[in-house]
Amino acid sequence: MDSAAFNLSAQAGIGMTSQRTRTRMVERLREQGVKDPRVLHAMGVIPRHVFVEPALANRAYDDTALPLGFAQTISQPYVVARMIEILLQGRDGLGKTLEIGAGCGYQAAVLSILTKQVFSVERIAPLLSRARDNLRQLKLTRIRLKHADGNLGLPEAAPFDTVILAASSKTVSQTLLAQLAPGGRLVMPLVTSASGAEQVIFLIERTESGWIETRFDAVRFVPLLAGVE
Ligand code: SAH
Repeated sequence: MDSAAFNLSAQAGIGMTSQRTRTRMVERLREQGVKDPRVLHAMGVIPRHVFVEPALANRAYDDTALPLGFAQTISQPYVVARMIEILLQGRDGLGKTLEIGAGCGYQAAVLSILTKQVFSVERIAPLLSRARDNLRQLKLTRIRLKHADGNLGLPEAAPFDTVILAASSKTVSQTLLAQLAPGGRLVMPLVTSASGAEQVIFLIERTESGWIETRFDAVRFVPLLAGVE
């Protein structure tokens, strides 16, 4: 386990007031079917209220997406937990991981409890700087953030053992797949209807004999967009 996990609640003003609501959130995740103790631990450690707007802090541990501004949302806790659990299934760890769509940095923080090497890219500059501030406040300074179009992946840090997209797309990017290490896994919300309304969690795994694809729960994510702003 990462030592950062132990130090978090010791930091001034963070964690103490919300530990009980966070424990309830973890209980709810368990009831919803999240089983991996590593994931439940990480979800219990990261104070989600630090990542949401102060006006919404009282809803920080509700199991819903919340607005971040810029027409973006902080992901629903269940979906964060579920996608990470899928990446970890049958594995020792996440290895070197790339997140596309840092938003406010919440999921990157959860990932950083589970692995030492977390890279995350975000296309909206003010959101990225908010993620940077939030992560710095929690002293999670090892996470590498970049203002970039995630459609390009992060070639300078590739290959990755795991890639997680926080925005939905109709197609699986060949560019991202090319940045997966052998045995690597990519998880994303895949759009399955013309309107974009129907999406499922989609896992694609690189094996010696080819690609293995698996579909999981229905989800609803903001779209993966092109370019930066
Ligand atoms: N990971 C966040 C979720 C943020 S919502 C969390 O923990 O809550 C998804 C994010 O993906 C948005 O911030 C959006 O700006 C970003 N995004 C969408 N398309 C992108 C792209 N091509 N490259 C990088 N980020 C992208």
